[in-house]
This record gives sequence, C-alpha cells and structure tokens, in this order.
Amino acid sequence: MADYDICFRGGRVHLWGELQDVDLYVRGESIALLSGRGESYGARRVVDVSGKIIIPGIIDLHAHTRDPGYTHKEDFLTASRAAAAGGVTTWVDMPNVEPPTTTVELFREKKARAEKGSLVDFGHFVSGVNFEEIPKLAAAGVTGFKIFQVSGAYPHDPRLALNDEGKLLQCFRAIAKTGLVCVVHPFNQPLFDSFSAEAFAQGKPPNHVTFAEIYTKEAVWESAISSLLMLQRESGVRLHVVHTHAARSLNLLRQAKGRGQSVTVEIDPKYFHLGRKDLEEKGPQVCPAGFVLEDPERIAKIWRSFRNGTIDNIGSDHAPHTNEEVEKQRIDAWTAAMGNPQYDHYLSVFLTDVHEGKLSLANLVRCLSETPARILGIFPRKGILLPGSDADLVVVDWERERVLSNKGLFTKVQWSPYAGWKVQGVPVLTMVRGKIVAEDGKVTGEPGHGKFIAGVSQ
Ligand SMILES: [Zn+2]
Repeated sequence: MADYDICFRGGRVHLWGELQDVDLYVRGESIALLSGRGESYGARRVVDVSGKIIIPGIIDLHAHTRDPGYTHKEDFLTASRAAAAGGVTTWVDMPNVEPPTTTVELFREKKARAEKGSLVDFGHFVSGVNFEEIPKLAAAGVTGFKIFQVSGAYPHDPRLALNDEGKLLQCFRAIAKTGLVCVVHPFNQPLFDSFSAEAFAQGKPPNHVTFAEIYTKEAVWESAISSLLMLQRESGVRLHVVHTHAARSLNLLRQAKGRGQSVTVEIDPKYFHLGRKDLEEKGPQVCPAGFVLEDPERIAKIWRSFRNGTIDNIGSDHAPHTNEEVEKQRIDAWTAAMGNPQYDHYLSVFLTDVHEGKLSLANLVRCLSETPARILGIFPRKGILLPGSDADLVVVDWERERVLSNKGLFTKVQWSPYAGWKVQGVPVLTMVRGKIVAEDGKVTGEPGHGKFIAGVSQ
C-alpha cells in the first residue's frame, strides 16, 4: 500500500526564501512530507520534476470573474480554468458584477454560483459602501470588503464608489470593527474630472491614449492615498490599497508603514509591464497602462518598493472584456469598458522579470503567495509549501522559453495583452488541495472543486 498519493521527485522546492533539493509528497488535500534526495517512500503516482521548480500556488486578491451579470466576458468556470492554467490556486473577486454584491442575500447567491463553477479555491470581497450592511455581511462570512474611489461608467460602477471622506470614515469604522480587510481602489475623482475637462478644452480626443495619460497622473493617486491614510489612522481599519503605481504614493505608504499604520500595498502587472509601444500596437487592450513604464524614475521606484517591502503583493486585476467592448475606447474611453485579462500569461510575465534580474524569486513568491495568504489570515495553511499546508502548488519549467499568443487561451474573451511577448519560465502543472487542475497546457480540474475562503478577523 502506498503511503502517499503523489510524489514530486527530483525538483527544487521553494521554501523559506530559497530553492531546496527535496521531494514533495502529497496525501489527500495536504502536503505530507518533504524528504531529502535519495530517500524514497511509496506513492501512487510519481511525477518527475527534474530541472523544474515548485512554488506555492498563487493567491490572487484581485480578480474580476464577471459572474453574475457579465458572463459574456467571463464566468466562474472560464476564469478558474485560466487561473488553473496560469498557476493561480486561490482567487478573491470583486463586487462590480450585476447585481453588485451589496447585501448578504446577493453575496450568498454569488458564492453558490462560484461553488458550482470554480476549479480553484475562491473568496469574495463584497461592497463596503453601505455601512449598515457591513456587520451583517461580516457575520455571513465574506472574505473582506472593497471600496472604489473611482467612479464613472462600468466597470467603475457608481453604485460601488465612495469619495466623500465623512462617509468613507463611517464605513472604515464599521469595517474596522469586523477585523476584516478593506480593499480600496484609491482615486481622486474630482481631480481626474478636472484634468479631463482641461484636456478636452485643449482639443485632445476622448480616446484611450488621453484617458491612460490622465488616469495614471501621480496627483490623482497621491492625493487619494494621502486622504486614505488619514482615514485609516482615524478608524484603525485594516487598509489594503490596490493599483499603487504612483511613485509619490509609494513614498507615503512607506512612511505610513514606518509609523506602524495597518496598511498593505498591492500592484498589478499592467502598469509596469505595458508601455507606450504596447498602447500604440494593441490600442485599447492595453489602457489604462502605457504611461507609467515611460517614466524611468517611477519604474525604478516600483522595483525598489518590491525590494524594500513597501509593495506587499501582486494582484492580477484579471479584468476581461470582449475586444469589441474595449475598442469603443477609441470613440469615448470615459464611457467604454476598460481592463484586460491576465490569468493565462500572468505567471510567465513575472518569471521573466526574475530571469531578467528585476525581482528575486523569493520576492516574487512573497508577493504572489505568502503575503496574500497572511492578508487573508490563512497563512500557513496556504501561501507556503510546508507539511500540513494545503497542497496548492505550481510546477514551473524554469528554463523553458515561449512566445505568448492568443491561441489556446482559457479566458472566455480569447485575447491577452501579452500576445507576442517572449517569456522564460512556464507553469506546467497546477495543484489545488491535492488535485491536479492543470497539466501540460491542459485543464484537468473539475468545476466544483474550489472551496470558499471565508474572512478571518485579525
Ligand atoms: Zn480591478
């Protein structure tokens, strides 16, 4: 009788910040044993991972599954297939669906749909803008709360937006009492509106290029972060800010952390990977990226912020729309859908950064897996490859090079902003709680395998 279900033999396992020469055994849903090379135990299946590395599965705190309401773009099944193929073993998605997740009843309906559809584990950040609903939602087990400061047209649904600092403080106080994380998309909407009016008055077209330039202006983000940090101090809320691509906001966040404020910092790949060239070649598929990468000081600050720990995690902002929908930005980017799918190519983009020496592998694992698990309060059950932890892992063919393309994608919209890119480092196997959900480019997981991750009060 074999003692273990699966043994990954001959590879290097990422643990405690380094790659270790050990074999990894899985029993049931958990990692059962890390054994030294040469020792051998019985396993029903032995996977030869010589020359490959094993890292913890990605825990993505920033997914837009589009389900319910926008399932022509993506749904739980297609999002989780793309996730599995891309090495994401847990995602937490956002409330800007239709109907938006603002009540306990809507949260329960959304969770039930995800339980049927998802191959990988999942949580959900509900809207945190109605302060009377907050304690009820927390009692129902939500993973955390999301507040958008940005408003306008979908996907920045005005029903989920809050700019008024008095009301924000009320909500922050209510969320602070729950002990759950409060995710905020920082944005100074009035300032953005004023920059927009100025640009139109100068005769700039209301297209994706003008939008991307204004949307990523430092002042729009820096002023929002400054106000959010003040409200965090007042309320004690566990604040998690996303899209932190502005250098001056990173300074503010670093100082706030130094003062001991409860704030964590997320960045998403598009801003510091997709530049003007991509915006010119691929157009609206790239917006609102295209301007951050062109500013060397800003980019240097971002990479430095990974090294010095100011940036805590990478969130994908997997945000699919059909190509026809984003193309409408050429006419009016202020009302058109905006965002891009990420999951299929996500990990390879960052593994390439590691190969290029921009980021260490240890830092990447910290930002993709370990810190997100800590933010959710589920570390070390997830986020690390220790005996007793969930067997959520990704086997990576470290040296393999490939040219990314729009062929064979799992996202429903069938395009990727990284098509044509040459990358190094490819996920070849993804496991969620002991079950292989993707292997050699094929998705093998079953809908319904994914389990809900409830919020943990901290
Ligand atoms: Zn988002």
